[in-house]
Amino acid sequence: MRRSTAAPDGQDVLKNAYVALRRAKALGIGQSLTFSPDIGQAARERTTLLRDLRQAFERRELSIVYQPQIDLSTGKIIGAEALLRWKHPSGEFIPPDRFIPIAEQSGLIVAMGRWLLPEALRTLKRFQQAGFEHLRMAVNVSSIQLRQPSFLDFVNETLAETGTSPNFLELEITESAAILGAGLVEQYLHELKKRGVGIAIDDFGTGFSSLSYLDRLPADRIKIDRAFVNALDNGDPGARGARIAEMVVPLGRKLGMKVLAEGIETEAQARRLGELGCDDGQGFLYARPMPIEELKLWLAGRAST
Ligand code: C2E
Ligand code: MG
Ligand code: MG
Repeated sequence: MRRSTAAPDGQDVLKNAYVALRRAKALGIGQSLTFSPDIGQAARERTTLLRDLRQAFERRELSIVYQPQIDLSTGKIIGAEALLRWKHPSGEFIPPDRFIPIAEQSGLIVAMGRWLLPEALRTLKRFQQAGFEHLRMAVNVSSIQLRQPSFLDFVNETLAETGTSPNFLELEITESAAILGAGLVEQYLHELKKRGVGIAIDDFGTGFSSLSYLDRLPADRIKIDRAFVNALDNGDPGARGARIAEMVVPLGRKLGMKVLAEGIETEAQARRLGELGCDDGQGFLYARPMPIEELKLWLAGRAST
């Protein structure tokens, strides 16, 4: 059969319609979309990236870095957040913001999480045994993982297997994930909280949770998104983002939650957050996310000062 680029054959038309359908479904219920070559190109790129990601995961080429979290009033480290890293065979680091959504869409995130949580808790154990008894480990959990019926058992089994007390684990869920799952997610979060596992709402301020919903969530901590922290020292005291950061601290307090500011990069931001009464912070000002060996040196360096 002769093919012209202008007029695709029947099979191509069907394929394109399917690609557009999947894209529309990913956008949410009731969405419609017309196929364009751009969509086809983006879909091909995602497919290639997913294939590479699967392969990298199977070959154990993904790694975990840890970013310290600091008590702003004492300067002491309270814990670390585990963050995934993927070095593509091309040598380039693919940012999690690019590969996590693909892992979520394909369901691969479930297997990735089943590898990451025990790994992160074993790391925690090592640090606790090395004298940092009070360190907590914060682990990001996507809504796809949270909605797995086996999620609770998995967390409980991992805590038991690694000999971790539940109050040294904190699960970070995004505001939108918490809303998406509503009933079931809320129930799971209550169960986890009953066990003593900490719950943090990540990227707070970027989603659309209603205040009454936030009040019902059994969270211990709110993490102010770094976009709002960033706005704190841009010289304009009335800046939009800054106002949000200023409001979230008392809001968290009122709800009985701790507040942690993400992405602190400057002393001025840290000072302002301290004045506002923000409890904890995380950001390049203190430390970048580091591989385990580097974190060990970083902790040892701080302990000796
Ligand atoms: P997140 O959970 O909000 O993680 C914080 C992000 O902010 C990290 O980006 C961290 O490297 C970055 N960051 C920390 N301090 C600073 C700072 O001072 N300045 C700036 N500009 N950035 C800072 P990263 O590692 O690229 O991760 C991006 C997102 O990917 C995470 O956001 C999280 O939502 C997701 N992610 C990473 N690892 C996992 C994982 O294991 N599971 C799931 N479900 N999501 C993950
Ligand atoms: Mg996080
Ligand atoms: Mg965040």
